[in-house]
Amino acid sequence: MSIQWIPMRGRLALVSAICALMLAPPLLSPAHALASNPAGNEDGKPTSTVRAMCAPTLDASSMGPRYVVSVPELNLRSGPSTTCEIVAELDRDTAVYLIGEQTEDEDYIWIPVSTSAGVGYVILESIQPTAADGTCGSRGTFSDTGETGFTAEVVNLRNGPGLGCSVLTELNGGTPVTIMGPATEQDGESWLPVSTPLGDGYMYAGGYAPPGSWVQPVAVAVLMYHDIGDFTDRYRVAPWQLEEQLIWLRDNGYNSITPRDLIAHLDYGAPLPARPVILSVDDGWASVRIFRDLLAAYGFKGTYFLPSYAQLSPDEIWELNQYGEVCGHTVSHQFLDQLSYEGQVYEVAANKEWLDSILGVSTTCFAYPFGSYSATTTEVVALSGYQIAFDAMNGVQYFDGSLNRWHVSRVEVSGFLDLATFAAIVAY
Ligand SMILES: [Zn+2]
Repeated sequence: MSIQWIPMRGRLALVSAICALMLAPPLLSPAHALASNPAGNEDGKPTSTVRAMCAPTLDASSMGPRYVVSVPELNLRSGPSTTCEIVAELDRDTAVYLIGEQTEDEDYIWIPVSTSAGVGYVILESIQPTAADGTCGSRGTFSDTGETGFTAEVVNLRNGPGLGCSVLTELNGGTPVTIMGPATEQDGESWLPVSTPLGDGYMYAGGYAPPGSWVQPVAVAVLMYHDIGDFTDRYRVAPWQLEEQLIWLRDNGYNSITPRDLIAHLDYGAPLPARPVILSVDDGWASVRIFRDLLAAYGFKGTYFLPSYAQLSPDEIWELNQYGEVCGHTVSHQFLDQLSYEGQVYEVAANKEWLDSILGVSTTCFAYPFGSYSATTTEVVALSGYQIAFDAMNGVQYFDGSLNRWHVSRVEVSGFLDLATFAAIVAY
């Protein structure tokens, strides 16, 4: 759809209206959907024994390194293809021993293994090497001890106490963990049963920091505003609503940061204040001035995502960057996923050059108009010199494995929210 002929104010109104259409979660690509369940029985392909490549002769006499199955169920197949017959279904933590070289078909890397259920091929990414046998997968004795601390560093969450138990996920430093029972000794290490935002499991005790010993915030709420005005709608919040929200944030201990603080934290471990919040406003409406002044009145800094048609003078833009932070939002606010690579480069880079020339520094932060991007957009944004980019949805951004600096989540603040609802979606 072309909107080139619409006068500027009309275009902005249309842009806001189109935003509503774009906020549905993006569909997973088939490749992504496959990768998330690469080895279950639902691999979506018919089983066939007609292929000659299936059932090659495997020599299990010399067993190689020990691995364990790291997915809930894994098919052991007669050959290195999803078209080969299923020999057995292996549960998580089943030990498998490598007995040959890996082969690759168009979808997966396959490796021949020996198991208690026979020999065959499994998908390499669904198994993981382990040092020793452990007691894995039994979590019946978990009970909340009432102690919630944090991970002091990046640690593996395993499904049992010991290096022989499979890794469920990786927990970033600062992830809240609740101790769920006494520690177990295994493999020369103490293992704590823990409950975490990413699931229950075991972590080595040396990676645990008790409450009070670590003040790392667990999340940042990146609030996304658009227009400020009396006639509220999804994209317009009344000044009194904004004021009420700022008072709630102040009274509940939130501290505003801007993207440069988040970048310094991610890159150099620079400390963040307690309960960090980024108060961002998109699209450079004239009402940005109201936003700026109300934030200043309550001691908060603003973050301003500006397209090149922002209704602000260069002097005002420069000043916004002194008290808060100015970020890019493309030249003309188009759907980047519908532009050619060159078209995206123009929209992203020309807007950044314009902002850089006003600010006298390199703009570090960017937000995708409509939250829209294609497979190449992140590359365009990074190559343009940005250091962080924000989506238009997905709620509070936790400092766990979900943080992607090119797709930091935001919380939409619409004009329809009462204070209780605002508090509910912002609190963490
Ligand atoms: Zn926008």
